Amino acid sequence: MSFRVLTAQFSHETNTFCKVPTTLDTFRASTWLTGNALKAARLNTHTDFGATFEAAEKYGWTLVHPIAAAANPAGRVSDEAFETVAALFLEGAKGIDGALLHLHGAMVTDSYEDGEGELLRRLREAVGPNVPIVVTLDLHGNITQLMADSANALIAVRTYPHIDQYERAWQGADLLDRAMRGEINPRTVIARRPLLRGLDGGRTQSGPMRELIDRGEALEQEGRALVVSVCSGFTAADIHDIGPSVTVTTDGTSPAGREIAESFMDHAWATRAWTSTNHRSIADAIRHAKAGEADATKPLVLSDVTDNPGSGHYGDATNLLAAMVAADLQNAGFYAIFDPEAVQAGIALGVGNTGTIRMGGKHDPEAGGPPIDLTGRVVSLTDGHFQVFGPMGGGVWRDYGPSLLFRVGGIDIAVISRNGQALDTAQLTSLGLDPTRKATIAVKSNHHFRAAFEPIAREVVTVDGGALGAVIWRNEGFRHVRRPIWPLDAFAE
Ligand SMILES: [Zn+2]
Repeated sequence: MSFRVLTAQFSHETNTFCKVPTTLDTFRASTWLTGNALKAARLNTHTDFGATFEAAEKYGWTLVHPIAAAANPAGRVSDEAFETVAALFLEGAKGIDGALLHLHGAMVTDSYEDGEGELLRRLREAVGPNVPIVVTLDLHGNITQLMADSANALIAVRTYPHIDQYERAWQGADLLDRAMRGEINPRTVIARRPLLRGLDGGRTQSGPMRELIDRGEALEQEGRALVVSVCSGFTAADIHDIGPSVTVTTDGTSPAGREIAESFMDHAWATRAWTSTNHRSIADAIRHAKAGEADATKPLVLSDVTDNPGSGHYGDATNLLAAMVAADLQNAGFYAIFDPEAVQAGIALGVGNTGTIRMGGKHDPEAGGPPIDLTGRVVSLTDGHFQVFGPMGGGVWRDYGPSLLFRVGGIDIAVISRNGQALDTAQLTSLGLDPTRKATIAVKSNHHFRAAFEPIAREVVTVDGGALGAVIWRNEGFRHVRRPIWPLDAFAE
């Protein structure tokens, strides 16, 4: 017999400090794929759905794929968006033998702090206790007891930059098929600690996150757990259930799963203050760029980690750009300022023409810098579409809306109409900006940029640009997190 399997995506990393709401229109303008269009867009891509479609072929499943809905991190998801997508999940769940869902784990809606937990609770209620539900997640999910109770298995990515969604979906597919055949009965437990942040923000290159992922994979290989998932949590969320977690999936309920989860979180607690980051000031970064630009054969990559659209920051902070212009950097590039009005001003000027454009600083001028007026030349204009060819989502088409490349002195500045962090060099080359030939490239990203930009860089420097991310790191504005919690409260050793 052929198993009927639901697969669907509802992905949002919600920054509750961001003033821009995430509405149904936001999803529709970002990633909103239904039915055959979903399959056409994701088949043969290195993505979670790419793996899911291949697995369905291998196992002979009848796949139901009603919706892929995803949007760039920003403020709370509207009730209308949540209810619309949840209804599509529940409609697709009728008569299924199992589900392989692709969620994020840090979605906050107007009505629910734990968007994924509520979605999974409803799904479990609809399908009953015996239909296996397997979920892939981002390691920046704020994972809850409700998610662990409602799903059979939670499988978080193990790389940051996240480049293993394909592999994790295959792991989930194999597990789901065994569960549907009755070979295994996966059950998941969760452990947490009073931590607002930890595990080095999820960085997997070294440190406690790397150690725990390695230990978890060893336990999986030894057969002591079906899945061990380590999540660092997402810090820009003022919610009760914020923070790092470990979930362990075993065959049936087993005390061994609980022991593993607790011992892993003991390590996360002990290493809570460990960090691999060393962000430099704008002034220091600019001095460094200026000193190296004349002899550069590869770019210095500067990343403003405090205005990362991938964490729900506004993407229009001007502090770093203004400093680059003031220092008159030569042979430099900047990606990007999110400012649809500035793009329209560039379109009005036309390619090849010179003029003055006011850009950026519109959302959060007190933190990230005010709007700046720049005089330069319109180098190129595009519709913002291009195909990703780097390690993150290779093969997928992305769309940053009408886009402008504006040359100010020795700096090529990208201006985009749809917010998004620097993930792929094609974001730049599609505008005519070749980063490999620049002395300095500035991007807005916390860590994901490394997948595509570290290989071409002579050096990577992360910069504290003073924008919204810096405000959150100072632990300002948390009102709804559970207390006591580190680092807001003191703990006796
Ligand atoms: Zn993430």
